[in-house]
Amino acid sequence: MIVRRLAWKLGARYRLHRNDLPGRPDLVFAKKKRILFVHGCFWHQHNCRRTHTPRTNLSYWSEKLERNRNRDQNNRTMLTAQGWSILVIWECEVDDHERLLTQIQGFLK
Ligand SMILES: [Zn+2]
Repeated sequence: MIVRRLAWKLGARYRLHRNDLPGRPDLVFAKKKRILFVHGCFWHQHNCRRTHTPRTNLSYWSEKLERNRNRDQNNRTMLTAQGWSILVIWECEVDDHERLLTQIQGFLK
């Protein structure tokens, strides 16, 4: 939500969750050929403090999370091959609005 608001503020128009693109990207800036993903740190296995592997059902979780990671990787590869530029914003980065704004601004330029 924060990311959407910031993008809107920057005057960039986008579409949400396009089903016709790999990974259903969160924000798609079609004119600029740019895609923005907002990833939850746990589900997408960000290398940060918020990421942990649950202690119970370890094999279930590591398999599942590994699959997520591979899927993300494949989606990014496919999108890049189609000519899209991609920015991933992590859940843990969203709190710093100023930094986020600069980041998105730079990406959409
Ligand atoms: Zn994170």
